[in-house]
Formats: sequence, C-alpha cells, structure tokens
Amino acid sequence: MGSADKRRGPSLRRRLVLGLLAVLTVLIAGLGTAEVLVLRHVLYQRAAHSLRTELQLLAASEADTSAGSAPTPAACSITPGSMAPGLAGAGAPRSGPPPGPGAPVGAGGQRGSTLGAGAATALAGVLAQRGVASAVVGPGRTILACAAAAPTGSRAGFSVPSSAAKELSSLSGAGGYVTLDSQGRHLLAISQPIGADTAILVTDLADDDAAVRTVVLVTVLGALAALVMAGLLSRPLLASGLAPLTKVARTADAIAAGDVGQRAALSRSNDEVGRLGTAFDTMVDRLQTSLEERDELVRQLRSREQTMRQFVADASHELRTPLTAVLGAAQVLRLGAASDPEELAESLWHIEAQAERMSRLVSDLLELSRHDGAALPGCPEPLDLAALIADESAHWQGMYRDHPISVSVEEASVEGDRQALLRMAANLVDNAAKYSPAGSPVEITVRCVGTRAALVVADHGPGIALEDRQRIFERFYRGDPARARATGGAGLGLAIVDSIAADHHGTARVDETPGGGATFVVTLPLRDLPAGRRAS
Ligand code: ADP
Repeated sequence: MGSADKRRGPSLRRRLVLGLLAVLTVLIAGLGTAEVLVLRHVLYQRAAHSLRTELQLLAASEADTSAGSAPTPAACSITPGSMAPGLAGAGAPRSGPPPGPGAPVGAGGQRGSTLGAGAATALAGVLAQRGVASAVVGPGRTILACAAAAPTGSRAGFSVPSSAAKELSSLSGAGGYVTLDSQGRHLLAISQPIGADTAILVTDLADDDAAVRTVVLVTVLGALAALVMAGLLSRPLLASGLAPLTKVARTADAIAAGDVGQRAALSRSNDEVGRLGTAFDTMVDRLQTSLEERDELVRQLRSREQTMRQFVADASHELRTPLTAVLGAAQVLRLGAASDPEELAESLWHIEAQAERMSRLVSDLLELSRHDGAALPGCPEPLDLAALIADESAHWQGMYRDHPISVSVEEASVEGDRQALLRMAANLVDNAAKYSPAGSPVEITVRCVGTRAALVVADHGPGIALEDRQRIFERFYRGDPARARATGGAGLGLAIVDSIAADHHGTARVDETPGGGATFVVTLPLRDLPAGRRAS
C-alpha cells in the first residue's frame, strides 16, 4: 500500500465489512448469552421441579411405611442455628429452645412432626441413594434427618452445605431454588414443606452445567463460523454492490485527467445508485458544455485577436504606400522641382492623389469600425429599399456614364440605417462599374424573395474566380492585385458591404452573372411581409 493509500485509510468496502462483522458479533454475542442464560434457567428449574416431584412421591410412601419406626440420629453439616424460621414448619408447636449444634435429635424434635424422625431418615436415605443430599427439619427447627448423597460413578458424594438453609431462607414464595458452590461442586438446593416439616434437598448440577457448556461451545463455534462466512460472503456482495460507485470514481478520475467525454453510464434505475449515476452524468454533461463554450470563446477571442493584428498590419501597409509616395513627391519638391512649373504641377498632383487615396482608406476604415459591432450604429428606421435605390439611381447614372445602369425594383420594406444601406449599395455599384469594361451594362434589382428583400447588382465584366469568392468579403482582400492596384482599391469595399449587411441581420454573397460577370446579392429581412408570404 502506498503512502497516499495509507493516508486515505481503509477502503469503504473494508470499512463496511468490518462494520458488518462488528454488528454481527454484538448481535450473536447478545443472542448467545441470552440463549445460554435461558437454557441454564430452564435446566435448573427442571432439576428443581423433578426434585420436588420425587420428594413428594417418596415422602408419601415413607410416611406410610416408616410410621412409628425408631429415630436415627443424623450427623449433619446443617444445624438448627443456621436455619431461618421460615424453613422449619412455621405452624408447628415450639417447645423450648432448639437443640444446640450437633445435638442428637430427641423425642421432642418429633413433636408435631408430620414425618417423624424414622420416616424422615428413611426418606433421606432413599434420596441419598438417588444422588440427592437432604435434611429434614421438624417443627422448632429440629433436624429430623440428614443424609449425604451417595457417590455415583467417578463422582464423590456430597452433603447438604451448611449455607444451604441460609440461602434458601432468602427465597420468597414457593417453587424457587438456589445454586451453591460447595465442596468443589456446583449444587442446586430447594426447600419443600412436608406437612409441618421442611425438607432441604440438594442435587449436583454437573450434568446440567455440562449441557450448558456444550451449548456454549457449539454457540461460540457456530458464531465464529458464521462470522467467517459473513466476512467471506460479504466481500463479493459488497464488491458488486459498490461496483457502480467504483465506476463513478474511475470516471471522475478520467474526467479530472482531462477526458471529459467519459460518462459513468450506470443503470437508469430509480434507486440511490441510479440517481447518483444520472446526476453525475448530467453534471458532467453541463461541465463538458461549459468547457466547450469556454474553448469556443477562447478560439473566437484568439481568432479576433489574429484578425485585429492582421487588420492593423494590413492597414499600416496600405497607408505606407501613399505616405511613401507623398514623401517622395515632397523630396522632389525640396530638391528644386518647385522652380519648374511642370514638375511642380506633377508633384502636387501626386501628393493630391495619394492624399485622396489615404483619405478614402481612412474613411473606409472608419466606416468599417462603425459597423464592427452587432448593433446598428445609426438609428434604424422603416425604409422602402426599392424607393431608396430608385432615388439614388439617377446619381449613379450620372456618376458612371460609361456604363448603362438599369434599375428594376419592387416594394420591399426593411428596417435599417439609410446612410449605411446607401453606402452598401454604392460600394456594389462602384465595383460593378470599376471592374467591368466601359460600355458594359450594370443591372440593379430590388425584389422580395420569401421573407427577405434582395438587392442584386449584376455586371458583365470579368467576374470573380471561384477560389476568390469565399474570401472576397475579407478585409484588404483583393482578387486580382494588379487590377486592383490599377483601380486604387484597398480591398475594404466588400468588407464594408458584408459588415453593413450583418448589422441588418442580412447576408451578402457573390454569384456569377449568366453569360459572365459578377452578381452581388445582399438579402435583408423584410419588415412587413407581403400578404401572400405571411403564412410561410
Ligand atoms: P476594392 O476597394 O479593392 O475594390 P473591394 O472589397 O470592393 O475592394 O473588392 C475586393 C476585390 O474584389 C477587388 O480587388 C476585386 O478584385 C474584386 N471585385 C469586387 N467587385 C468586383 C466585380 N464587380 N467584378 C470583379 N471583381 C470584383
């Protein structure tokens, strides 16, 4: 066992086995003790009862046969002085003080006696032959007869112990018995009135005690066997009972080690173990969900950070080109170009063009930053996209005279920021004019598609390569750098379109115009659905 295991202490299974064995030991010990005590009491009572029955039978027959026979003095360890009044025929007449210890039983002792000394002696003799020591006490506590039990087998005889009378006097009521330890023997004594006399009978409890000892031995051996069996059987039973807990613990270890996909998957029963398994798995489900959410959040933050870094780098790069050009033009001026009107005009034109480019770039960056959040920057208002586009089309037609611009609209009520939506449409129209050859037509359409309004700007220019379509809406992405450089774009126009569409819960995509060219489609949620579309 490792030091960690030692610190943790014994396992739950071991503790349960030990607890079970402790409880079983206490129960078996209690039951065994009660059983032995009851058995001993029953055996002693039976011995006392059989003594009484025997005495009654013998006393009746001895009273008949020995009437008038001569009294035989008895040498007896029990003395009149050791007897309490209750033991010596309370109703019998008392004539003077009882004889002293060891005094022979005289005729006076027989006065009022039921048995008389002869019958009492005979009775004691018969009892002695049957292994019972006895003393018969007459009225006035005179000892009529006294006999030791005859030896039986290997066991020596025994006489009535001197303490028997005293012990018996403490009994309340008839039918009781006392047990005594005397002469190295365990004895049972009873007292039984016979008319005016009282007989004290003492029997050996060796057989009864041997029976009790056998029962004790059997009980102890049985209890030990039961405890061993309980220990052996309870281990596999507890192991199978605790198996679900072991599984939960192993699963928890695996989860702690990072494998959050693990589940206890216990039975779905409604008992404690089933409920524990369900609660554990639900808890792990939640843990896994929140960990996945956290990971997703971290991924998003990292990706945002990466995008932001890329954005700053791209913006710096885009600004550096015109700045370098401005710097160059300024140096040319400083080196004397100012004196030549033509060179001066060219340098100033350069500076102006690059400043304009920077201004456009900065305004695009500002526009992008305004539409970088989830909420609309301006005040959203109900708008008819068709009217908005139709009103602006004249301006575009004037601006891009090289391109025939056609407009086809149907009413489409949306909610949004007027300026932002105009900027979005303007970027698309500007691109269409910019990237298609002069004279090629541009078609602007507004229509309703299902629950959405669609703004479509189609041109018939070179179109956009399939591999560029996925990235065309990214910031600073230019499909064809040579062509883009010629047109002066920084690759922010479509990123602004995408941001504005997203701010309006819309989407932006590019398709191919049938016959060649690019078709940009922006969809926005319709505010008031036309009657026929509400059901869908
Ligand atoms: P720019 O300011 O460079 O125009 P945009 O984001 O508007 O940036 O466009 C990104 C790139 O997409 C352009 O460089 C161009 O290659 C391509 N592009 C955009 N519109 C069109 C179009 N109508 N036809 C062909 N290519 C287009």
